[in-house]
Amino acid sequence: MDQRLDALVVGAGTAGLAAALALARLGLRVMAIDRRSQGPAFAIGETLAPSVRPLLNRLGLWERFLETGPLPCPGNRSAWSSPDLEYESFLGRPGGQGWHIDRIAFDRLLAHAAAGAGAELLRPWRIGTLGENDRGTWPVELVRGHGNARALVNPRWLVDATGRAAALARRLGSRRRLVDNQIAWATCLALDPIAAGAVDAGTWVEADPGGWWYTARIPGDRLVVARMTDPATNNRSHPPEVRDAPPHTGLRLRHGRGQPLLPWRRWAAGTQRVTPSAGPGWVAVGDAAAAYDPISSHGIASALADALGVADGVSRDDQHIWKAFDRRTADRFERYLHDRAGVYRRVGRYRDRPFWAARSAASSDVPEALP
Ligand SMILES: Cc1cc2nc3c(=O)[nH]c(=O)nc-3n(C[C@H](O)[C@H](O)[C@H](O)COP(=O)(O)OP(=O)(O)OC[C@H]3O[C@@H](n4cnc5c(N)ncnc54)[C@H](O)[C@@H]3O)c2cc1C
Repeated sequence: MDQRLDALVVGAGTAGLAAALALARLGLRVMAIDRRSQGPAFAIGETLAPSVRPLLNRLGLWERFLETGPLPCPGNRSAWSSPDLEYESFLGRPGGQGWHIDRIAFDRLLAHAAAGAGAELLRPWRIGTLGENDRGTWPVELVRGHGNARALVNPRWLVDATGRAAALARRLGSRRRLVDNQIAWATCLALDPIAAGAVDAGTWVEADPGGWWYTARIPGDRLVVARMTDPATNNRSHPPEVRDAPPHTGLRLRHGRGQPLLPWRRWAAGTQRVTPSAGPGWVAVGDAAAAYDPISSHGIASALADALGVADGVSRDDQHIWKAFDRRTADRFERYLHDRAGVYRRVGRYRDRPFWAARSAASSDVPEALP
């Protein structure tokens, strides 16, 4: 194994793969590792805001992205501030329409592009022992699977792309600031292929007294459905039933055929950030740096933007660039917190319900207790 690395990326989800690609495209020696032997069969996060287009362009992926067959998403329909469905078009926004993607295919595209650009991708590998940063490199022991192989590498930069776990940043002494404990229950329904074309192409969002729902049609005649709630304010910690859906969502779910394609799965869907999110010789990207409420559709665009930012910084060989990373994440997170409270305050019809009251208030941290 080549020990001389410019960057070791830990975690090969969207953020890690995009970082590996962006770094490798600059001719840097980069390795990405993931503790899982293969990617998941289904991943949540399927609406790309129009803002991803310039990011995919900069990654050299726009044309190849279109070839994966994403579905155009012209806007959102939401029963949010009132029980009526209101339409918000994306078309006035820079970049035009958004997209609904098959997330597994999207991450596969990133992985192929990163490997094609020269990045080495290793699964299932994780970090074993991690020494002190010594004269500009990190002595890192990598461990394969349950320990049946080990290797030593000396990267100049460590990139934490381990998602909400922020495993590397926390190992380096950062703290996780958890702003809310929201969870999502999500699954996927098959649509009748003939009827699928009649299913509205937008993302639908609908509030109910104890949380909110969204549905999005994705490639392969499937409909993703997710219900956000909070175990602290709603003692229902078991999956929702399709028949519990509020009226507009319920109508949309009627297009589904038979049982959900996958068992309902619980996901962490709250807001969190690690502080600091970078330090000398290391940086966190994507959800590892800051994870956003799904209402923002922020996660994937932020992961891509972080990846491009890291590549810019690392290629400049500026030892202090990590300060700019941390400041940028902090600023973006504070702006997002302000916007998020405004979005939840708009649901005045449930203002007295604990789920909505907690999210409309100025944010304060809750004790770390991840689902
Ligand atoms: C219900 C829900 C809906 C969402 N909807 C949207 C949406 O519509 N649009 C949008 O843009 N975003 C959405 N998001 C957010 C989006 O899914 C995330 O922002 C995105 O997945 C973050 O990617 P990531 O690469 O940072 O983390 P992840 O996708 O979590 O990847 C982390 C990777 O790190 C690996 N890993 C973890 N720990 C270690 C370790 N110790 N060593 C090695 N590897 C490790 C994991 O195996 C994984 O492969 C949604 C999120 C939720 C919960």
